[in-house]
Amino acid sequence: MADVILEPAREVPVIRRCEVLVVGAGPGGLSAALAAARAGADVCLVERFGCYGGNITVVGVEGFAWYRHEQTVEAGGIGREFEERAKAMGAAVPESQSLSYELDSEGFKLVADRLVEEAGIRGMLHRAFVAPVMEGDAIAGVIVESKAGREAILAKRVIDATGDADIAHRAGAPCIKTPLEEVQAASVMFHIAGVDKTRFMEGVRADPQTYKDWSSGEWEVETDGKEDGMYSPFLGKPFEQAIRDGLLPAHLNTIGGTWGAVHDSGEMTYMNLVHLAGCDGVDPDSLTHFEVEGRKQAMQAVDVLRRYTPGCEGARLRNFGMSIGIRDSRKIDAVYNMSDADVRGQGRFEDSVGIYPEFIDGYGILILPTTGRYMQVPYRAMLPKGVENLLVAGRATGGSPVAHAATRNMACCTVAGQGAGVAAALSVKTGSGLREVNMSDVQAELARQEVRVF
Ligand SMILES: Cc1cc2nc3c(=O)[nH]c(=O)nc-3n(C[C@H](O)[C@H](O)[C@H](O)COP(=O)(O)OP(=O)(O)OC[C@H]3O[C@@H](n4cnc5c(N)ncnc54)[C@H](O)[C@@H]3O)c2cc1C
Repeated sequence: MADVILEPAREVPVIRRCEVLVVGAGPGGLSAALAAARAGADVCLVERFGCYGGNITVVGVEGFAWYRHEQTVEAGGIGREFEERAKAMGAAVPESQSLSYELDSEGFKLVADRLVEEAGIRGMLHRAFVAPVMEGDAIAGVIVESKAGREAILAKRVIDATGDADIAHRAGAPCIKTPLEEVQAASVMFHIAGVDKTRFMEGVRADPQTYKDWSSGEWEVETDGKEDGMYSPFLGKPFEQAIRDGLLPAHLNTIGGTWGAVHDSGEMTYMNLVHLAGCDGVDPDSLTHFEVEGRKQAMQAVDVLRRYTPGCEGARLRNFGMSIGIRDSRKIDAVYNMSDADVRGQGRFEDSVGIYPEFIDGYGILILPTTGRYMQVPYRAMLPKGVENLLVAGRATGGSPVAHAATRNMACCTVAGQGAGVAAALSVKTGSGLREVNMSDVQAELARQEVRVF
């Protein structure tokens, strides 16, 4: 068989034209679409799955602002609105280690539906981006595929919020992929049922875990020291004991991590316990392998919890996330790539689109924003090189691995997303390119949308 085939050229129907097209409806894309619509643009939001929310709803990542403590300063804006709306719609519960609410991954689907509807966004679920429509070096829309076949959507500005910079990459913008031996672990997330909450919480109180405990087992985690004695909903000891007892093989010392919320109904959600090294988030064969392996490991983790964790004796699997969770893959080589110093040292930028507290979680670092320190998020980190009319929001913005450990967090993705949405809308309105958009106007609109920019 030949290594390649030649696809014949074909006519593709244009099913929609809009001002701002956002692809990917995670924290980055959902915020971008809402912000652009609220700034007056005609917006389409394309998503490959059947719900908005990205990792929140697709993977089951519920800890939206688990970093928040008394002195934490934040941007507000759409990120805060996600929490407030979720609370108001009964889709959030208090989070155990912080002054925040944990989003309910199922309930948030309804919250996002409502937000999209209210903003007058044209939602287009069940369509996957497959190719850019280019006019020279400018993107003019995208080709999507779905049950309806191949279709084109044309737009004046496109925001790539796929998490993996799919559009930027296919449009020819330079991207950087973390080498597989350094990539942050992927996780198959799951929820369990049948937990005796009273007994489980008695066990937690009898032996409270701290962030220092993150350094047991397979990982050494760098902190500022101030985090070490603070409470963390960490589960490590049951898995260490299971290895000692021969119930779990020694190489699975990667199992362990945090539990999210335990409900009166006996459900325990956002079980972030399975960590899979070396998963390539943009290779479907790798994703296939690690989905299956992750599910196996999740069931091993449930067995261990049943055996060693008070209150979990009758626990059973309730559900897996709809997809494996990818923390790290492709990022754009942006006009400005955020540096370690920016996220560790309160970076300040004239083109700030919002602030984000000094919260770094990833690449072996955990720094919590307990001091009021914060950085600004620069617009240029969302501007790809070499492609016009395109912005990249969410976790694929430009930056070093350590910078990514801050910017990948969902609330930071909402800050960048809201900035991208406003900039795209204003650039259409004023007829200026995305590189020339007037930042004072963007910042004024963001302030009107209740974002703290500086
Ligand atoms: C297991 C795990 C635990 C985490 N824990 C936390 C945590 O506790 N707190 C925190 O703040 N962050 C956490 N993160 C990080 C955070 O979830 C992500 O970095 C964040 O969700 C990224 O937002 P995003 O909008 O860029 O992308 P995503 O949330 O990944 O959303 C991207 C969206 O684009 C869609 N999409 C992708 N490709 C296409 C395509 N070709 N066509 C159409 N649609 C497409 C996807 O279906 C998805 O809906 C965690 C991540 C993982 C994986």
